[in-house]
Amino acid sequence: MTSRSPDPAAGSPPGTPPDPAPRTSPVPGRPAGPGAAPIAPSGANLSTLRDHNAAAVLALVRAAGPAGTSRVELARESGLTAQAISKIVHRLTGDGLLVEAHRGASTGGKPPTLLSLVPEARWAVGVQLGRDTLTVLRADLTGRAAAVRRLPIDLAAWGPARVLDLLAEQVDLLLSGLPRADVLGVGVALPGPLDQHAGVLHQVTGMRAWDGLPLRDEIARRLGLPGLIEKDSTAGVLSGLGSPNRAFVHLDQGLGAGLVLGGAVQRGARTNAGEFGHQVLDPAGPRCRCGSTGCVEALWAAAATPEAAAGVLGEALANLVRLLDLDEIVLGGREVLDAPEVYLAGIRRVLTARLPDPAWQSVTVSVAPSGPDAVALGAAGLILARVFG
Ligand SMILES: [Zn+2]
Repeated sequence: MTSRSPDPAAGSPPGTPPDPAPRTSPVPGRPAGPGAAPIAPSGANLSTLRDHNAAAVLALVRAAGPAGTSRVELARESGLTAQAISKIVHRLTGDGLLVEAHRGASTGGKPPTLLSLVPEARWAVGVQLGRDTLTVLRADLTGRAAAVRRLPIDLAAWGPARVLDLLAEQVDLLLSGLPRADVLGVGVALPGPLDQHAGVLHQVTGMRAWDGLPLRDEIARRLGLPGLIEKDSTAGVLSGLGSPNRAFVHLDQGLGAGLVLGGAVQRGARTNAGEFGHQVLDPAGPRCRCGSTGCVEALWAAAATPEAAAGVLGEALANLVRLLDLDEIVLGGREVLDAPEVYLAGIRRVLTARLPDPAWQSVTVSVAPSGPDAVALGAAGLILARVFG
């Protein structure tokens, strides 16, 4: 990732082998394969939720919204027996996660009791470590941000110790007065590359002091809460619901893309998918601080006007849409939020020009509704995703 005023001297040349970064061991008892990023078992009250069926039931109740749903409906939708549903609901209600809200409409016999989620029963913390801004928020079980704190930082110059001290302090303030047992964990999103499974950072451009840092375990150690880490762009794509084939493009001193294809988040072999900014559009173009030349990011950074920058991004997105057959692009990050109409118009214009049949290959382009909170909200969503299965 680079800024729109890149320092060509910074960063490592392409093809540089990854650091022999220290690897952390998987949490005992949990698989370490893709999609099984561990939540350390410290602190949070996850015992009930580790049950797959309970997680499925909880997800169904959440999907029903404030209107609630009945035990009969839950049995029908989950395929579980009425007896199993009854047991699970009893446990979840006892844990304060569900409440018997009210009685539904009768269809002749006794009207069913409707169950609904208690959003404030548990909390997930979402953190975005931006290059110059720290965002920390607390999300309820529905994924709504209940409190947000934002502070200036200098990720590269300060180094891990100072930044993580501040992060811990801010999380403590955010959780002040709440029992730690009600906090499910802390998701942290930041620029890649990183190994999401191992929870370790890898040669983040311009951030040598962070290379090889076992950030996930460091978060867990400092906060006494389970931690997860994620690339900022991938967290962004988890910040809201949308098409099963969509990209979240993060523009904040750099370009990255988080991908959902066929309804599943795509992280790739090393959880490093989405290095969208370093696809080469013009080998004879300006040098990128990744060491290559003519990367999208370098062309975007060198663009003379926001309109031209939006045009460069549009070209790269047209490639992405054609490669992956996406039908939705969500834009986030400060550069976009500073000039949303310019980016929306520029990207739509290029997509219409580049796609062979733009009417058939219709692509929705929008700005993330959660604005500057999108990435941190997606980081909290990582924690919630473990709860709802
Ligand atoms: Zn590059």
